Amino acid sequence: MKVYKFGGASVKDADSVKNVVQIINKETGNLIVVISAMGKITNLLETLIKAYFEKNARKWEIFNQFKDYHLEIINQLFEENGVPETISSQFSELEMKLKKAPSFDYNYEYDQIICFGELVSTQIVSDYMNFSGTLNQWIDVRNCLKTDDLYRDATVDWEWTEELVTETFQFDSNRLFVTQGFIGSTTTNLTTTLGREGSDFTAAILGNILNAESVSIWKDVPGVLSADPKKMDGTVKIDVLSYREAVEMTHSGAQVIHPKTMKPLHNKEIPLYVKSFVSPDDPGTVIRNIDHKIQLPPIFIMKENQVLITLSPKDFSFISIEDIDRVVNFLIENRVKITLMQQSAIDLNLVLDAPEADWEEIFSELSPYYSVRYNTNLTLITIRHYTEEVLDWMVKEKDIYLEQHSRLTARMLVKQ
Ligand code: ASP
Ligand code: MG
Repeated sequence: MKVYKFGGASVKDADSVKNVVQIINKETGNLIVVISAMGKITNLLETLIKAYFEKNARKWEIFNQFKDYHLEIINQLFEENGVPETISSQFSELEMKLKKAPSFDYNYEYDQIICFGELVSTQIVSDYMNFSGTLNQWIDVRNCLKTDDLYRDATVDWEWTEELVTETFQFDSNRLFVTQGFIGSTTTNLTTTLGREGSDFTAAILGNILNAESVSIWKDVPGVLSADPKKMDGTVKIDVLSYREAVEMTHSGAQVIHPKTMKPLHNKEIPLYVKSFVSPDDPGTVIRNIDHKIQLPPIFIMKENQVLITLSPKDFSFISIEDIDRVVNFLIENRVKITLMQQSAIDLNLVLDAPEADWEEIFSELSPYYSVRYNTNLTLITIRHYTEEVLDWMVKEKDIYLEQHSRLTARMLVKQ
């Protein structure tokens, strides 16, 4: 059994959907296909959620954009056969939700609406495949992927999920399943999500539980690259990576795979392929268990929109473990992620990743204890397998706010 995951770019229009179906048709064994929302639909739904929560009438305009985008794809795929009932009922369900008043919990409302991106995209692909002769079963993954109720960043209940997933994906009656990435549900069946770009993680969860032979993530790039080609020249594709290297890269901000994807696969030694849906016969990159050292080129990862805060105790006392504990817990409570930490006697420097955070409020909470300085719009550059040459060049090119080196990794915080 294999798991394939297709992201938004791979199903952004009708031709892309047909291309995905061709890739699926080449696989003749048992297969689970995990799909994200089409194109940039998740971003569009985020604007819809905001309008809904603010009780702004613009929500209907955005809802129509959501519908029209999919209807165009549906019309091209199903031609004169019209919109399948399964899909129009998804639209009606979302419409009904939008007619009701929102609760006071933004994150809860977010998950109840954002899930329609994945529900509709999987329904379209599944129905189109059944219509064009590739028989498959559509699964609502929320019935088996169980989580806690931390909306927008839910934690998987592995034990329960394992039981339900094993029960749901029965390959003796079906060879091919289509299901959603990114979404799950609580014990009381309320929709949750695993965090933006979480579909890769869903593929890994299913792969782990069902002991997949491999998991493949199909992308618009030829594999894992040594840097983002939009930001740097001379990038090379990496053929093989260890799970560990992949975790380091993605956790530092490489957007090619969600950082949580590796652990479930590593635990069962399931190889992860990153392949191009544009040239599906090319080998791509494989991430697997490697027990020897491999020579890697310097790998550049840029994480943008970082904020540097420097906290100094007002009474001039040293930074203590209690300070670190207090600040870190406070940030976690406010869903602010710490990407790098560095301290001196009386300065605690934290690089933070939270594009949506309310900084004014965060600073006002910290200011009774610390004098707070901060810089916004910074980029954290991580260089794995750095060389002296690369570092010299970097230092000449950029204004560096903070620097940290370990044996294999150099990190530099620079102005965006
Ligand atoms: N559709 C979701 C997002 O854009 C999940 C995913 O693509 O993995 O964040
Ligand atoms: Mg996506």
